[in-house]
Amino acid sequence: MFENLSDKLNKAVKTLKGQGRISDINIAATIKEVRRALMDADVNYKVAKDVTDRVREKAIDRKVMIAVEPGQLFVKIIQEELTELMGGQAQSANLKGSPAIVLIAGLQGSGKTTFSGKFANYLKKQGRQILLVACDIYRPAAITQLQVLGEQIGVEVYAEPESKNAVDIARNAIAFAKSKGKNIVIIDTAGRLAVDEVMMKEVEDIKKAVTPSEILFVVDSMTGQDAVNTAKTFNERLDFDGVVLTKLDGDARGGAALSIKTVVNKPIKFISTGEKMEALDVFYPDRMASRILG
Ligand code: GDP
Repeated sequence: MFENLSDKLNKAVKTLKGQGRISDINIAATIKEVRRALMDADVNYKVAKDVTDRVREKAIDRKVMIAVEPGQLFVKIIQEELTELMGGQAQSANLKGSPAIVLIAGLQGSGKTTFSGKFANYLKKQGRQILLVACDIYRPAAITQLQVLGEQIGVEVYAEPESKNAVDIARNAIAFAKSKGKNIVIIDTAGRLAVDEVMMKEVEDIKKAVTPSEILFVVDSMTGQDAVNTAKTFNERLDFDGVVLTKLDGDARGGAALSIKTVVNKPIKFISTGEKMEALDVFYPDRMASRILG
């Protein structure tokens, strides 16, 4: 994960690490390299600049130059800043309500349906009764995909293959969930290949009709700054609660993970690292920062 960024950051701080004393010049050069490493990883320019400015300020505040192990202290400062950049604390989904309603939104191919299955599987293991809802009225294959996943993990799936109204399906699904004593309803919505008004309006209408306690925006981490821009657009329309970053098992450069929190001010809550139902993790910013710094 983020190998290139890790390599570059490690290279940037390597010269400082072994040294007993460091100078202003060492620090300025390292900060410049750190900024370049972040930008090469497709981190938004402003985000990269802000974070390295804060690293510099902290280095001055903590008197890095006269520290016993200046290199180590400097790396610690970068780690703290990367952690903050990604949201600081891990944040869980809000599952209030009976049943709690979770709305999953995002572009087609981002990994929404796969995540819906994984999230259902994850919650089922905590002893919850889950209902998965197929709200894609455009692609019959999407309904089948969710049904296959549901069968695989032993979670019931609600679908109305003949219906052409996603809002009705969502409403009916909730009534069905209540009648069956389910605790959590996960609604998988339709996506498009690009942001499109019909899709946005539909997911907005579903939100209004079912008032979810949690709206998760799913985005493919491989799409870098596009992921951040798509997040911005969805957030303006949906005011979602958290981000799910998918395909972190691929060769994503890291830009989406590092920029999204600052740009949309919503936390990354889960990360998806494969196609298997178990490949889901709660997102811990500090662990990710440690991993990036190797
Ligand atoms: P949707 O259109 O948003 O519902 O996207 P899907 O859930 O159908 O996912 C699109 C493709 O990406 C499928 O082939 C999934 O198996 C794959 N996929 C989803 N999440 C991940 C992930 O975390 N890692 C990898 N490698 N593939 C994923």
